[in-house]
Amino acid sequence: MLQLKPTIVEFLRCEVGDGRSASFWYDSWTEFGQLISYLGEAGPRLLCIRKDAKVVEATRSGNWVFPAARSDNSQALMVALADHSPPESSKGRDAFLWRNASGNFIPSFSSKETWEQLRIHSPLVPWADVIWFKEHVPRFSFVSWLALIARLPTRDRLRRWGMNTPASCVLCSNGEENHNHLFFECTFSSSVWGFFAAKFISFPPATLSAASSWILLHNLPQNTKLISILKLLLQTVVYHLWKERNSRLFTGVASTAAALRLIIDRTMRSRLLSFPGPSLLSSSLLAVYFSRLSYPL
Ligand SMILES: [Zn+2]
Repeated sequence: MLQLKPTIVEFLRCEVGDGRSASFWYDSWTEFGQLISYLGEAGPRLLCIRKDAKVVEATRSGNWVFPAARSDNSQALMVALADHSPPESSKGRDAFLWRNASGNFIPSFSSKETWEQLRIHSPLVPWADVIWFKEHVPRFSFVSWLALIARLPTRDRLRRWGMNTPASCVLCSNGEENHNHLFFECTFSSSVWGFFAAKFISFPPATLSAASSWILLHNLPQNTKLISILKLLLQTVVYHLWKERNSRLFTGVASTAAALRLIIDRTMRSRLLSFPGPSLLSSSLLAVYFSRLSYPL
């Protein structure tokens, strides 16, 4: 999963010239970084400098002007600033410098170099194999990926963001909607997933992460076709459950679990149909799927 380092400020540094553009509190123009972070919200009151002040406003007649230090941090700042020459018009305008790949600060901004430094390179997550594979359907993979990393806008998340939305699950009305509930603690979800999974696995995994782990664990050469079908099945189920949830929420149209199973079955067949077996002697994915599934749904 992609993570970002907490602040962009460390990638942008300001070299003070006339001090008329650089923000005293929010630009990184001393070795202390952003002074509002260093001194905290009390900083503007301690130094008698407004929050929106430019660096030049901390000077008078070419000298720094501060009240007596009232904390260790503000004292350390004043000692450090004694080595900074105050802003002057003759120094030209304030310059903003970006850190490049080698760690030097330069005037030109490169989105690529900055992005490469901002992102933390994480090892490839093991379940990537469960999500992206030859037979995958891009929109199914995308929703399944978000479901696996718990990033779908489920009601528990919306409520945490302060939105005034009910907590209940629209699929079963019998639980609170969150990722674990939707995939597949919910009675509606588990009746869809469990139905298909039981055709392929003796003791079907009951959660999305357990299903992913099961697939990874059994991803062996002798199981290639079965695993391809299960990967497709998992993302088809996840996608259609999420779609059904959205349909109920936004259009008021609800399908029964039996109707959803039919849709999923048709989707599976039409997708598998586009992958014929490599030879007449080798069964196709669709044939393997048929051999496992019995009717009626
Ligand atoms: Zn539910």
